[in-house]
Amino acid sequence: MNKLQQRIQQIEKNIQTSCDKVGRNRSDVHVVAVTKGVSSTRAKQVIDSGFKHLGENRPDGLTQKLEQVSDNVNWHFIGNLQSRRVRDIIDKVSHIHSLSRMSIAKEIQKRATEQVDCFIQVNVSGEESKSGLTPDELTSFIEELAEYDKIRVVGLMTMAPNTEDEEEIRAIFKKMRELRNQIQTLNLAHAPCTELSMGMSNDYMIAIEEGATYVRIGTALVGEESEGD
Ligand SMILES: *Cc1c(COP(=O)(O)O)cnc(C)c1O
Repeated sequence: MNKLQQRIQQIEKNIQTSCDKVGRNRSDVHVVAVTKGVSSTRAKQVIDSGFKHLGENRPDGLTQKLEQVSDNVNWHFIGNLQSRRVRDIIDKVSHIHSLSRMSIAKEIQKRATEQVDCFIQVNVSGEESKSGLTPDELTSFIEELAEYDKIRVVGLMTMAPNTEDEEEIRAIFKKMRELRNQIQTLNLAHAPCTELSMGMSNDYMIAIEEGATYVRIGTALVGEESEGD
């Protein structure tokens, strides 16, 4: 078994442990393998290992991987998106995880030929370095999106702060679940908001325990390009 297979096996074990701990079904948790830091060759190995969701955070990275890797996967755009780059990725992705600006929503509406599944990015921790709406801004933003029929709000996304403090991270994920539930109670046709995109290499187990349905795992899964597979 090579290193990639070992990492995958470990992650799978951890996901199952977290699901068991809180009585969730493994099948309700989707892994987005974040390939932004590795080559197309590595991305291909990840796909060959059975992953159906791949994530990239830059339009160029996404386009390049798409050209070089089989297109039999769902591509998730997880990074900050600029208006002028929307057209470059919009019909190539199955999900956008980082919607938090109306200008981007407008651009998606203008460019998309089919409805796009979007997560609204929320900055629960309030860190200035992070993008995303504040919890207070969330409801009105989502309500306004009703006029954009190319956008379906499938859920919420966040990035936890980079800290060792598990309880701090857990509190943020909990808050995200509450926000998601609040949006669901609005019963908006354009915003079913059933999903939670949260959890990365360092905190995906906590995220799953708190209800994540999409975890975005980079280095812990794909490794680092420099170290070989
Ligand atoms: C890079 C990235 C990830 C994956 O990060 P790892 O720590 O390598 O797992 C997840 N989400 C977003 C938005 C990212 O930019």
